[in-house]
Amino acid sequence: MKEMKIDNIGDFLKSKNIKPSFQRIRIFEYLMNSIEHPTVDEIYKALIGEIPTLSKTTVYNTLNLFIEKRIVHMVTIEENEVRYDADVSDHGHFKCDICGKVYDFKANIIELDTDLSESFIINQKDIFFRGTCPSCSKKN
Ligand SMILES: [Zn+2]
Ligand SMILES: [Zn+2]
Repeated sequence: MKEMKIDNIGDFLKSKNIKPSFQRIRIFEYLMNSIEHPTVDEIYKALIGEIPTLSKTTVYNTLNLFIEKRIVHMVTIEENEVRYDADVSDHGHFKCDICGKVYDFKANIIELDTDLSESFIINQKDIFFRGTCPSCSKKN
């Protein structure tokens, strides 16, 4: 979830050279306001009531465009499940094994020490933890 809200998403998209169609604006807005790191399916289900002309392909293509313009990150937490994040700042993800919720946390990923040689080209860095979240550990 983005801590800083963008007032005018249409202008924001324009500033990133993205034509601000209604569907694109709503998809970005949904992602920005979501703390769930939604999948394509979840975004589609959340918006289809409001945008009956929406298709899963449109959601998918829109997200790919956002990724290309670096305003959205792809988050792969489970191998078979791609999630999306409008927070492109440096942060890690914590997934609760009990409720399945994904939490953001601050982490200095950019300066993370590794022994990878410079001949490796890195496109994205992810930090992923899993365990039990506070509300689930309270219940047990
Ligand atoms: Zn939990
Ligand atoms: Zn995140």
